[in-house]
Amino acid sequence: MKEIVPPPPALVQNRHAEVRELFERHVVPSYGRFDLVFARGQGSYLWDAGGRRYLDLGGGIAVCSLGHAHPEITQALIDQSQRLVHISNLYYHEPQGRLAERIVSHLAPGKVFFCNSGAEANEGLYKLARKFGHDEGRFEVLTAFNSFHGRTLGGIAATGQDKVKKGFEPAVAGFRHVPFNDLEAVRQALSPATAAVLIEGIQGEGGISPATAEYLLGLRRLCDERRLLLLMDGVQCGHFRTGRFQSFQRILEGVPGAEGFLPDGLSMAKSLGGGFPMGAFWIRSRMHGVELADLLGPGTHGTTYGGTPLGCAVALKVFEVIAREGLADHVRTLGAWFRGELEGLVKDYPTVLKSVRGLGFMLGLELRLREEVPGLSGSDKPASTQVIQRLHDAGLLTIPSGAQIVRFLPALNLGKPQAEEGLEILAKVARSLA
Ligand SMILES: *Cc1c(COP(=O)(O)O)cnc(C)c1O
Repeated sequence: MKEIVPPPPALVQNRHAEVRELFERHVVPSYGRFDLVFARGQGSYLWDAGGRRYLDLGGGIAVCSLGHAHPEITQALIDQSQRLVHISNLYYHEPQGRLAERIVSHLAPGKVFFCNSGAEANEGLYKLARKFGHDEGRFEVLTAFNSFHGRTLGGIAATGQDKVKKGFEPAVAGFRHVPFNDLEAVRQALSPATAAVLIEGIQGEGGISPATAEYLLGLRRLCDERRLLLLMDGVQCGHFRTGRFQSFQRILEGVPGAEGFLPDGLSMAKSLGGGFPMGAFWIRSRMHGVELADLLGPGTHGTTYGGTPLGCAVALKVFEVIAREGLADHVRTLGAWFRGELEGLVKDYPTVLKSVRGLGFMLGLELRLREEVPGLSGSDKPASTQVIQRLHDAGLLTIPSGAQIVRFLPALNLGKPQAEEGLEILAKVARSLA
């Protein structure tokens, strides 16, 4: 970045300290937070309490799909809040019906349930699997190692990472994990109690690992043969992040035999609401001889806030802007360019950077092991945390994924100049470590 940022005035420095103090005294310390206090945002930039500007390539962990303070989101919030904010799911209202229609139009005939987060959306899929298998005594859901499905008790049972489970035993029953992208492992793991398989199209927290086309098609065949539900978690990799509505649509593009591929259930959240807390799951229509989308009948599932007029109005606006501005194609084009540039950085700084992975605007830059990089080996913090800290100091926000990966999940409307600015900062930090 070209500009030299002057140190913030003392008064604002105090505000930073004051906010930190409030958190230390009153907020549950369940997050390892970076030492940054943000005050406002605009597009792909955030400003901290001292007035310093940062380029945001993390997008609030893939949530701020149109960036910060998007004027059309603001207007949608104002307009809808002047009409109707919440009525509960005891009644009908138009925005929820329209949003469900919009989601279905990007997938295939089916129905949508609205909730408030990714973990809650996945909970709905677990309940769908249990209802589906119930009369045959089946209840088990197979998920992948290194997956991430949320922090509820069901979510941590489903997640294939020990670190989220530790200390919270006993785990919710009915989940087992298999290696990702290994069809034979799924086949071997099936038991008479298995009702469903749940995977991410691209593992996000697990290090930006895309499913292969063969794996997806193989799982579909296996689920058809064995009358299992194929469930997909599109919370992070969905909503046009890969240049198509869902990552499986992108992964399977042009693959022979993939034309009719569909999961039986799909969870969504993060980018769906563009910053408004919102989750949803889609259920496919008739499947395995049952009307799957009607399995969760009256009284079987619910949530007070799910699909409020306000949330749905915002999500509809996000869909509208993405379509009108052609952001899916933009993500595809700029994402491919950005990925190419990252690969260039790996070539230029091979002692610091190892590889690039991902699709569209869901990219990961793999770092060398901490011990291999002299500038990182002196600290016991993971390589990703240390590099991200240096990027912060240089004015760039990114997201760690495990110990080795720096993740990019920018707003879908990120501009090329901002992408270039981010690359300059990355090059500068890589150079300082090489
Ligand atoms: C973030 C995430 C979740 C959990 O979503 P929350 O809104 O935090 O509950 C679930 N699955 C995946 C793949 C995610 O990335």
